[in-house]
Amino acid sequence: MQKELGLDLAEVARDAALLHGLLMRTRDAPNSSEVVGHAPFALFPSPVPKSLFLQALAAQPLFNRLVDRISRDPEFLENVLASTIKVDDFTARLFSIYRHVLQEGPKQSIVLGLNRSDYMVDQDRDGGMSLKQIEINTIAASFGGLTSQMPDVHRYVMAFVITLFQNAKKILDNNPAAGLAKGLAKAWELYGSERAVVMFLVEEIQRNIYDHRYIENELWKRNIPVIRRRFEEVFKTGSLDQEKRLFVGGKEVAIVYFRNGYMPQNYTEQSWEVRLMMERSLAIKCPDIGTHLAGTKKVQQELARPGVLESFFPNEPDAVDQIRATFAGQYTLDMGEEGDRTVAMALAEPDVFVLKPQREGGGNNIYGSEICQVLEAVKGGSERTAYILMDKIRPRPSHNYLLRPGEPLRLNACLSELGAFGAYVRHGKDMVMNECVGHLLRTKSVEYSDGGVAAGVAVLDNPLLV
Ligand code: ADP
Ligand code: MG
Ligand code: MG
Repeated sequence: MQKELGLDLAEVARDAALLHGLLMRTRDAPNSSEVVGHAPFALFPSPVPKSLFLQALAAQPLFNRLVDRISRDPEFLENVLASTIKVDDFTARLFSIYRHVLQEGPKQSIVLGLNRSDYMVDQDRDGGMSLKQIEINTIAASFGGLTSQMPDVHRYVMAFVITLFQNAKKILDNNPAAGLAKGLAKAWELYGSERAVVMFLVEEIQRNIYDHRYIENELWKRNIPVIRRRFEEVFKTGSLDQEKRLFVGGKEVAIVYFRNGYMPQNYTEQSWEVRLMMERSLAIKCPDIGTHLAGTKKVQQELARPGVLESFFPNEPDAVDQIRATFAGQYTLDMGEEGDRTVAMALAEPDVFVLKPQREGGGNNIYGSEICQVLEAVKGGSERTAYILMDKIRPRPSHNYLLRPGEPLRLNACLSELGAFGAYVRHGKDMVMNECVGHLLRTKSVEYSDGGVAAGVAVLDNPLLV
């Protein structure tokens, strides 16, 4: 297969990836663009049932509205996260910023949300397939930039293989970079100051910088100035003026776009101060602290409870049904009888569940026998409330070749995870933009139960609708 048409197809594919800008900095020099490689990707697109793909895209504007409503419901967030913040320091610190801003009164009535709702296709015993949500990422949802290059990469590869030539046409267009930038541009316009900048709040190590650059580039094309700053730089050169306008290095900031700040390791004491300052400011935060909290796994679990979705969409039974159809079973570990039942259920059959802490970025979940070890250790105490339990989704594996720089081509049994990118802008009471702006397909070898592209587990892919 590698030598099909007398060509080394993997080499053709790697060239296609570089040619189309599917770029990533190298592991060895993650902060330098002098030598770059390609992002990991699948040699061929992976099958996704068409109806379920369309279902995910159609649900996205509803998830946008749901997240937005949760972010504005302090009572709900307070109740739902009460047990979590007693034992989870990270969520507690975020929550204390939320309370602080609430008490002071939010300064900015423009809200910008850029999120990604992730799904897997669950297969039941009879072979029936359904779309199940894994999670929704409301902060620093990534790969919208790079994945915008994936259609061309696969079209190029497939054009080289006679038997796949016809299928090249079936690769869908996809440009989340443009859609995410459209949201940023809309919010920037509403902020209403020509000189004000969009600030990408970036990580210490920026291996995935090209993913950002595609979005940045769309903004430059519209003459919207962009700066990239780390927490430390904002700490040193940032301040609020009397009207709480945020200035960084002398530049007024219209939007803080967080591409960092989603996990405890991202923060020093200084960064926490900076986060608070930015949240208190007039700058539009993407996301604001309430929206960040709306994306926690604990909130996701509570939404699955009967009646909760109805409270957010009181007169929209169809919206409730559409959202709920994507929910997998989720169970509380709060103290009390219900939580005790969850513990007993998980211990009895650990292989059908995933135990999730309030973390992002991949590699934090607990599976199989380890669920028993962890629950045995925490089951009687409040530490267990740092987690939620979720039904394990079981997608049907398909075969693909995964390409990583410096690694030989391997044929793998793979599982795919589909993401739908959401972008919305609210101005006071008016939703002035609410869209699904594209999709992401990430594929990983079945041997891994967890982890994304950045964690070195999954690779970028395209759906081939079947
Ligand atoms: P994170 O915020 O760290 O990305 P996720 O909830 O997305 O957390 O979990 C990380 C990975 O674990 C997912 O990409 C998926 O591969 C796997 N995973 C999470 N939840 C489930 C589930 N319910 N069933 C099967 N796999 C899951
Ligand atoms: Mg996440
Ligand atoms: Mg995830």
